[in-house]
Amino acid sequence: MSGKPIIKPTVKPSFPAKMDLSVGKGVNTRLQAIAPNPAQTLQRVKAIPSALAKPVPHATAVPMGLGMDSSTFRARMVSKLASQGITDARVLNAMQATHRHSFVDTALANQAYEDTSLPIGWGQTISKPNVVARMIELLFEGKTGNLGRVLEIGTGCGYQAAVLSHIALEVYSIERVAGLYEKARENFRPFRIKNTHLLFGDGMLGFPKGAPYTGIIAAAGGDAIAQAWIDQLAIGGRIVAPVTNKVADKAVSEQSLVVIDKTETGLKRTVLELVQFVPLKSGVI
Ligand code: SAH
Repeated sequence: MSGKPIIKPTVKPSFPAKMDLSVGKGVNTRLQAIAPNPAQTLQRVKAIPSALAKPVPHATAVPMGLGMDSSTFRARMVSKLASQGITDARVLNAMQATHRHSFVDTALANQAYEDTSLPIGWGQTISKPNVVARMIELLFEGKTGNLGRVLEIGTGCGYQAAVLSHIALEVYSIERVAGLYEKARENFRPFRIKNTHLLFGDGMLGFPKGAPYTGIIAAAGGDAIAQAWIDQLAIGGRIVAPVTNKVADKAVSEQSLVVIDKTETGLKRTVLELVQFVPLKSGVI
């Protein structure tokens, strides 16, 4: 493991004007505590109670002086999402409730509510709010009531997992880069999100212990939908994932958003718009 210690700067950015990101975000001293192999981490996760009665309205820690300012920025972001065609109130509410600025580096916090992807370290990016909202809307399309368990492949900084945690009964999110797994844990800490399990491992294998899932969502694009995801999907469940298009004569590979619905009678595959995601890779680093 070659992760650099994540040192949060003590001088905070000037946006939003009164924003104080220091609460709950001290210097990361836990880096050495990463389990040396995925099995250990997964065991640690196993100890978490698995079934929750209903989605939990999280006790979100609102740092002093931040409340009004950041929620105004989020409200603006949410109305833009609505104007871009996101209609599911559950998704819009979750986007309003999730502090995107707390999941990106402090130096980028002033861009957190713009519709842009942002670097999160280790060569990875957090998706645009519009893409996060669109994918989650697709994941829960047509589903009401108990929304069941969701598996996210590619935790990254943890933002999308946090959004999902407001809508799904339970979320399992798996990350292959140890440094990002650790960063997501750090980002989650102030929010005390109880229905989400962050895992370190190769998401191409899914996470059988949490299966069957109502939804599986990938934040990285592979050449195909992994068989393990299909196997771990419940009947009536849905996978939403970017998949590389096989275009022989193109230098740059393209990805499309793919939806797989698992029914009693088989799988239904729907190919949607072109998208751009970081590559899905096997193994852990
Ligand atoms: N949902 C994330 C987006 C992170 S970008 C967020 O909100 O920040 C995609 C992530 O997928 C990267 O962190 C990358 O390391 C991870 N990834 C790629 N292949 C993976 C795999 N096989 N298993 C788990 N994570 C993977």
